[in-house]
Amino acid sequence: MDSSQFRQAAHAAIDQIIDYYDNIEARPVLSNVEPGYLRELIPPGIPQTGEKWEDIQKDIEAKIMPGLTHWQSPNFLAFFPANSSFPGILGDMYSGAFTCAAFNWQCSPAVTELETIVLDNVARLIHLPEDYHSTGEGGGVIQGTASEAIVTVVVAARDRYIARSKEQWVAEGLTEDQIEEKVCTLRGRLVALESDQAHSATKKAAIIAGVRCESIETVMGHFTLNGDLLTRKIEDLEKRGLVPFYLTVTLGTTPTCATDDFASISTALSTYHTANPTKPKIWAHVDAAYAGAALVLPEYSHIPSIWPTFADSFDFNMHKWLLTNFDCSCLYVKRRRDLIDALSITPSYLRNEYSDRGLVTDYRDWQIPLGRRFRSLKAWFVTRTFGVDGMRAHVKKAIDIAEVFTELLEADRQKFELVAKPAFALNVFRIYPPPKVAKAVEDDEKEFRRKCNEVTKKVADRINKEGKIFITSTVLGKGDESITAIRVVAGSQSVQVHHLEEAFKIISDAVDAVWKEDLM
Ligand code: PLP
Repeated sequence: MDSSQFRQAAHAAIDQIIDYYDNIEARPVLSNVEPGYLRELIPPGIPQTGEKWEDIQKDIEAKIMPGLTHWQSPNFLAFFPANSSFPGILGDMYSGAFTCAAFNWQCSPAVTELETIVLDNVARLIHLPEDYHSTGEGGGVIQGTASEAIVTVVVAARDRYIARSKEQWVAEGLTEDQIEEKVCTLRGRLVALESDQAHSATKKAAIIAGVRCESIETVMGHFTLNGDLLTRKIEDLEKRGLVPFYLTVTLGTTPTCATDDFASISTALSTYHTANPTKPKIWAHVDAAYAGAALVLPEYSHIPSIWPTFADSFDFNMHKWLLTNFDCSCLYVKRRRDLIDALSITPSYLRNEYSDRGLVTDYRDWQIPLGRRFRSLKAWFVTRTFGVDGMRAHVKKAIDIAEVFTELLEADRQKFELVAKPAFALNVFRIYPPPKVAKAVEDDEKEFRRKCNEVTKKVADRINKEGKIFITSTVLGKGDESITAIRVVAGSQSVQVHHLEEAFKIISDAVDAVWKEDLM
């Protein structure tokens, strides 16, 4: 493809993308293809001689589109959103055009310097205290995902804990051999902590880092971690000879968007460290993968002010709810040295005078991979195009729409029950059995719950099979106590109140249909 062919192809592709966005609502939100559908449509092997762009482009509609679930559709109410926007798409286009594996400053100074500037701007946008800005000892770095951010900080936390333990043993006069022996023992005892509501990313990070992971059980209905639960868990671990070194706390958990009790967690950690002055500090990470975007709103701006008292790091995904195409996960640390100490390896071929003299940031030392894309471009384009007001309006719109949906649920208490406090535009609810069945089992709590779970699952499956809207179901709690619930969250750029009103009608009709079947 030469440059004039590229010009033509790119114009055609842009036209197709614009049409896709303009007409997205008319497409069924969920793909209904069977597994392996694409093998039947795409001939095996690579063509011997190259094909024309017109022929390749035709296959987007004919072969790819049927297998796409349309995350940008206003009828996509499942998971958490994965926002896209035109300025974000432009950013990815330029990033693709410039393609540079900008692992250090010298590879392309603009890539590094823009990332630092944009992340400081985003820090200010979400009211993150100065402790996490690059102007002090901290700073931000763009990672691919919130999971990648958690792996990165778990590794840094592990190494910091071991390094500080070693310093202690050196001060106690232990020999090198003795210290080595103690490090080996310590490695086998390190525990990463999370609540039972935290995202599975912490468990995965622990597997990758080769440490144990334990969950702290939260109270059904509250779904939040607090200082008392944390203290009890730490005491329990220590009785078992285990060593807590890391903790994930969450702003907006995946199942219900609950927020952990940061103030009591901060107090519990500081009480623990005051009582154990020789033990290295537990690294706390605030995972706000989805809900972090809400911090753009003044009404949530007080939340991060407590974090510097206990949190070493914080991460949120601009690619979930802040209009930036996947991937753009913003990780902030209070001490960038902690990342660099754990992750910096400098073979001779990566050395250069700027890095050696400590004049520049080399983001390869802040992440797991070496190479990195120019992701700050899209964040820069998005933040400049929408401005603070535009981004606030986008997030607020989703919250307002969700409130309308909450009111609709609450107005029909024969059918629906909210099982968690609505938060950050997420509603989590269950469906009651038909009134006659509900009456028959109302005195038997366990049977009532079982019936609710059965009906809720049937309603969710029916709606997704029908495919007018896409929702997700979740299971809260464990065993006999568990509750099956439906999650509805609307965060795309295109969604409006009427979409949620229509969604409510679809859900309500599905309940009627399931009730009818259940009575027969
Ligand atoms: N943390 C929370 C609270 C989440 O809700 C999610 C995903 O929804 C993640 C982490 C993982 O996000 P990612 O896909 O960016 O790894």
